[in-house]
Amino acid sequence: MAGNGQAVGVLALQGDFREHLAVLRGLGADAVPVRRESELDEVAGLVIPGGESSVMDKLARMFGLFDPLRARIADGMPVYGTCAGLIMLADTVRDAIAGQRTLGGLDVVVRRNAFGTQNDSFETELAIPELGDPPVHAVFIRAPVIEEVGPHATALATLGDGRVVAVEQGSLLGTAFHPEVTGDTRFHRRFLDRVRA
Ligand code: GLN
Repeated sequence: MAGNGQAVGVLALQGDFREHLAVLRGLGADAVPVRRESELDEVAGLVIPGGESSVMDKLARMFGLFDPLRARIADGMPVYGTCAGLIMLADTVRDAIAGQRTLGGLDVVVRRNAFGTQNDSFETELAIPELGDPPVHAVFIRAPVIEEVGPHATALATLGDGRVVAVEQGSLLGTAFHPEVTGDTRFHRRFLDRVRA
């Protein structure tokens, strides 16, 4: 349970959904994989994992989840997206493949694969005032970057060069990096707090 007897979901079409299920269960949540609309109906919040956003988009449409997901987001369901999941939540994507759509909800512009081939995976420490000490050890894997933060969204974390890599907007949270692989549970706790609220 997420503190109120309600399950939380992890979108399990593709990507590293198992790691998110393990983190959420470790925090005491009743976390379940979501692959169909009836499963989405049962959860009070959703994590969208890392993976490949263009594939996740296609599968969401094939599985009849795209419109139900958009409806739940519009309805205020708490959602936490990591990496490809952040891309899925962005209102606008640069360097998308032809025909790629996003669920939207976050008033941001993200660029896919923003770190190129030289630097496509790296790790760094991020000071995130909202999460307190210590800094977050952030793992980036073919990550997007948030190039524009609109008036409805708030930047939570920036790289040394000022580029934004974590944002929040109401019940939506997005990170370009992968806390589910580092053992730092603060983002998942923040998501669960939104579900309980
Ligand atoms: N590059 C991937 C995409 O465009 C995201 C990578 C990730 O989720 N680790 O969807």
